[in-house]
Amino acid sequence: MSLTREAIVEHLQQILGSDQVLTDHHLLQQRSIDNFRKLQNIFGVYTMPLPAAVAVVNSTDEVARVLAFADEHGVNVVARTGGTATEGGLETPVENSIVVDGGQMNKIISIDEYNMQATAQCGVPLQVLEDAVRAVGLTTGHSPQSKPIASMGGLVATRSIGQFSTLYGGIEDMVVGCEVVFPGGQVSRIKNVPRRAAGPDIRHIVIGNEGALCFITEVTVKLFPYMPENNIFLGWTLKSMKTGFEVLREVMVAGYKPSVARLYDPEDGQLHFSRFAAADDCIVLFMTEGNAGISTATAEGIAEIVGRYPQCTPVDSQLIAEWFDDLVWGPDKVAREDERIRTTRNVNRTTEISADWSTINDIYEAVLPRIRREINGITLLGGHSSHSYINGTNMYFNYFYDLIDCEPQDENDKYYLPIISIICEETLRAGGSIVHHHGIGKARTPWVKAEYGSSYPMLEALKQAFDPNGIMNMGTIFPR
Ligand SMILES: Cc1cc2nc3c(=O)[nH]c(=O)nc-3n(C[C@H](O)[C@H](O)[C@H](O)COP(=O)(O)OP(=O)(O)OC[C@H]3O[C@@H](n4cnc5c(N)ncnc54)[C@H](O)[C@@H]3O)c2cc1C
Repeated sequence: MSLTREAIVEHLQQILGSDQVLTDHHLLQQRSIDNFRKLQNIFGVYTMPLPAAVAVVNSTDEVARVLAFADEHGVNVVARTGGTATEGGLETPVENSIVVDGGQMNKIISIDEYNMQATAQCGVPLQVLEDAVRAVGLTTGHSPQSKPIASMGGLVATRSIGQFSTLYGGIEDMVVGCEVVFPGGQVSRIKNVPRRAAGPDIRHIVIGNEGALCFITEVTVKLFPYMPENNIFLGWTLKSMKTGFEVLREVMVAGYKPSVARLYDPEDGQLHFSRFAAADDCIVLFMTEGNAGISTATAEGIAEIVGRYPQCTPVDSQLIAEWFDDLVWGPDKVAREDERIRTTRNVNRTTEISADWSTINDIYEAVLPRIRREINGITLLGGHSSHSYINGTNMYFNYFYDLIDCEPQDENDKYYLPIISIICEETLRAGGSIVHHHGIGKARTPWVKAEYGSSYPMLEALKQAFDPNGIMNMGTIFPR
């Protein structure tokens, strides 16, 4: 028989002490969702089952004891650090879940300048780690827009990626080792080595697990020299996304490694570049960094490639630098956006996918007209590519809509999910991936089997092996 809410709270209090077990009703409402249902928070209307408690953990041992208790009694556990999730990974889809909050595990354990790696607990916000390593002339190279709030545990758990990914890669290229706790309370540490060929790379069971396999308590990431004085910004306007993708491809195939390589379509571009771009302009832009010689040679190589396209008109690089300075989303910007939604009932959402160079433009061209045709109330629809690879790129669809005949709590069903469906359908049709970096969460779980195809049993076997009782973040990645 499942435990009552009161029994769960009482057990947690025995494990952690009363002050680490939070049961305030409004806090539980807020912890029942994330940005996937952000309108519930903005308008104060909550529909998800309430968790029994938020368990604030201060050590690996406490995480292990909470997970062992939850596993023994079949209680759903939702791991949490920064709380910036966008896809429902933090939702509590069943009554009386335990939200395990690692935000207080916020110590930087070491900055090893000689071996170029830093170790931090899961609750360290990336900005805090980045500021600490910059103080000694280094950088993590990781710069997701949510970095003032998003924390090391969540960043690894979601397979996050930052603005400088074309040079430094995604978090999967940065994680050296980590410590994790599995449902029964078993603690595993993956040691820090530059590389090993001792079987499969088990870091990848942890990276991207979204709290559905284990709780990440500690992470070691690589460090790089920080030389912002060598940054060079480049930008061009052009009229066609197809040409823009060709420019990006040529730069990547030529072997250049700018830290930023982006292509905006006209509607998305107007949100950032209306000072210099016409309403029908696309914008392709780059940033190069690193040692002075490398940064300059990279910028010259890119300029030479784009120069072969007479359709591209150069933009003053100072304008690109100014745009770049305003990219990060901290608490103030989030609060301003929430207030805008509250007062206008006009909602902004994004969905990111990836595909190879042959198909990315087809997906882009298939998705936009379908959304315009099938969804009422669209006020802005566009997108950009922000992470490129030698074999393809991502597309980050950006869309705004008015809530027409729709209560805020119904927004997911009437707008967001139908739009995600269109994007997933068109991406899968072209052979791309339905998630580039926000994670599957609960929003895209319905498509996970189609995403994996004949490799789905490999994914499913991980759940059976590491979470046989199915208590870790029910409904996230793995359909319930
Ligand atoms: C304004 C904004 C901008 C964003 N920009 C980017 C961006 O540029 N790049 C990008 O990749 N993402 C971006 N995101 C998405 C989000 O910030 C990332 O997914 C981030 O990695 C989440 O980290 P977090 O600490 O906030 O995790 P949370 O929101 O707390 O959790 C996210 C997921 O990870 C799991 N989780 C959290 N902590 C742990 C843990 N210790 N162990 C195991 N599982 C855990 C949770 O259960 C959940 O499924 C953005 C989001 C917002 C709101």
